[in-house]
Amino acid sequence: MSAENDYIDQILASARRAGIKAAGICRSVLAETPTSLEKGDKSPVTLADYGCQAVILREIAANFPSHGIIAEEGSEHLRESAGEEGAAKIVRLVNEAIQDDSAADFEQVCAWIDHKGGNGLDENGDTWTWSIDPIDGTKGFLRREQYAIAIGLMKNGIPFAGVLVCPNLPVDLTQADGQRGVMFCAAEGCGATAVPVDGGETLPIKSSGKSNPADWRVLGSVESAHGDPALVVSMMEAASVGGGFVRYDSQVKYGIVANGEAEIYVRPRSRPDYRENIWDHTAGAIVAQEAGAIVTDLDGKPLDFTLGSKLTENRGVLVTASPAVHAAVLAGLRAAEASA
Ligand code: AMP
Ligand code: MG
Repeated sequence: MSAENDYIDQILASARRAGIKAAGICRSVLAETPTSLEKGDKSPVTLADYGCQAVILREIAANFPSHGIIAEEGSEHLRESAGEEGAAKIVRLVNEAIQDDSAADFEQVCAWIDHKGGNGLDENGDTWTWSIDPIDGTKGFLRREQYAIAIGLMKNGIPFAGVLVCPNLPVDLTQADGQRGVMFCAAEGCGATAVPVDGGETLPIKSSGKSNPADWRVLGSVESAHGDPALVVSMMEAASVGGGFVRYDSQVKYGIVANGEAEIYVRPRSRPDYRENIWDHTAGAIVAQEAGAIVTDLDGKPLDFTLGSKLTENRGVLVTASPAVHAAVLAGLRAAEASA
């Protein structure tokens, strides 16, 4: 095995281990009644978000100490809002997840949450930076619907590897009552796979090859304020897209395109000044691309992950199962925007 393949294996194994621990935290929190601690920007956050970030960054700090980190949460708000009870609870959740003999205290948990790593530069001149959303779709999590733990890694500012953990997604989408919990995994040049969170066969996944627009299925957010539903409907009319529209919270949508269950995930800007966070797209983008999908913005431009925590130079996000779907959706969007 080459040194590079060995490194990729270490990266994916580490991300999967962290993701399984994080999924355990999410499920423990959902076993009781999860409560939301509102952040300054009015978005919800829970103890599970912080607990997940702690266990993920603990794993990365241990295995890749020099790698840089861009992650959604920081301990400041946790310290302000958790109270004594919340602090005790997050310490318990993290210790149950990591199963380490030397039990962590609240300060240690906060230190993991705030781990920033180094500059990520290796001996070959490549720069490694993780892009992490400990719970993407916190609103879906609180509704006990779909959410994702998104662990992405960029090499030189380009998504390189990702593990997208979807603890509540049916392993077989046609069997809603069946086993739940899927991890989508990918690394550049290695293809994409799906594996049940609780163990099972690792299967390669491929995006859909459906060529007739009448069959193309479209994915969007449950939160209509996170997009522009009217534009999507008029794109579907203009491009004669007829497979229906399905809503899911979170980056789960990237996994659904990657495993061939939908052809289009379109995310127009909700307002002209909205810029997407990189942690909402890094892991999903590499999973979808390695499964054969095309990931760009609504102008067909590649997503530029090199500009810090936001995709400042991109207009929305478009994920399609194939180049043919991509061309048709872009043309549909142009027609829809021209007639708006
Ligand atoms: P989704 O469930 O696909 O809508 O994605 C959830 C993510 O949407 C959250 O993690 C937020 O980072 C992001 N988000 C929040 N507000 C907006 C907005 N106005 N437009 C687009 N995305 C948003
Ligand atoms: Mg998010």
